[in-house]
Amino acid sequence: MVLKDKTVIISGASRGIGRAIAIELATAGANISFNYLKSADDALVLEEEIKDLGGNAKSFQADIKDYNAVTSWVDDTKKIFGSIDIVINNAGIIKDKALALMEQADWRDVISTNLDGTFNLTRAAIVTLIKQKSGVVINVSSVSGIVGMPRQTNYSASKAGIIGFTKALAKEVSAYNIRVNAVAPGFIETEMLDALKEEYKKQVLKEIPLMRLGRPQEVAKAVKFLVGDDASYITGQTIVIDGGMSIV
Ligand code: NAP
Repeated sequence: MVLKDKTVIISGASRGIGRAIAIELATAGANISFNYLKSADDALVLEEEIKDLGGNAKSFQADIKDYNAVTSWVDDTKKIFGSIDIVINNAGIIKDKALALMEQADWRDVISTNLDGTFNLTRAAIVTLIKQKSGVVINVSSVSGIVGMPRQTNYSASKAGIIGFTKALAKEVSAYNIRVNAVAPGFIETEMLDALKEEYKKQVLKEIPLMRLGRPQEVAKAVKFLVGDDASYITGQTIVIDGGMSIV
């Protein structure tokens, strides 16, 4: 139970990668506070699943784009669990389109959710970590933010922005014993990939040296390593989890 008595606040854990991270960290002993946008039923199922594992979890409906809603979620988390030790910025969306056809709303929605959302949760929680002089922040970026993907200018920009945010914040808060790292998954089997055409997925598989999509649990294992003491000398880094897709 390496994370016993630690409290994790994680965005977007009702489904997919966030859900897998919540279960992985709860299994290691952490209390889990998570938010979601629409999936209230899935959120309750996760709460129950973590309680059945002997852990503590509380879900909150809060739009990650809404700074005031996120601040209330952070305040409620501190009231319920007493502190916050680990912040995980995971909530994210895609709205893929060629730039020539992209509406401003598609651009704004992706940047607001992925990049503003990362600011909102981290900003709302960082003073708590600074005051206690300890903490870990993990930001979920993407290979798309490293190599760039066609039809994803909005998404690639948001995820590259998250890597810059990670590096800058790591330097800024290292004196307070706070580490900040990112993970950059490749193609991971979640509902996010449902939006991609089958033909495109087949093409993608050809470009992955390990010849398969990743599993949410494989991202969660890397996050568990990064939040723990085994990663005590790692900060400002982006760990790529992509089956080798971005090897150059
Ligand atoms: P997913 O299955 O679509 O789940 C997205 C999660 O984010 C859900 O819990 C969703 O809540 C939540 N969310 C979305 N918009 C939100 C908002 N405005 N406010 C609060 N919560 C919101 O996606 P995923 O594949 O697990 O992706 C998780 C993260 O990994 C994202 O940042 C994504 O960009 C990144 N990533 C994914 C892949 C991949 O291949 N899957 C690859 C690289 C990076 P609701 O259930 O309520 O909608």
